[in-house]
Amino acid sequence: MALIDCPACGKRISDKAKSCTHCKVDLTADTESIESAQRISAINKRTQLMNHSFVALLAFVGGFALWFWGGEAAANWRQPTGIGLMAAGFVGYLVTRVRLALDKRS
Ligand SMILES: [Zn+2]
Repeated sequence: MALIDCPACGKRISDKAKSCTHCKVDLTADTESIESAQRISAINKRTQLMNHSFVALLAFVGGFALWFWGGEAAANWRQPTGIGLMAAGFVGYLVTRVRLALDKRS
């Protein structure tokens, strides 16, 4: 049994498989439907990355709101939680942005 790359999602699958175990694309189908599955999988991946960047942005805004609730910088537990959320959201947003840019290039 040899391993090949799935033409749609690019993950490693058996060359004996009739359909991909990851993205369920029918490998016995003609090139046209494999290509359309390829496009769908690319769109899904991009949508997932967009959702990630949205969640990261939300965490950033949420952390900021938590930190500055009431117009003042918080001094209690809200400070580390807010700063942590902001940092995680910021880094997460940057990482997903870079991943999106890399995805667009390939
Ligand atoms: Zn696949």
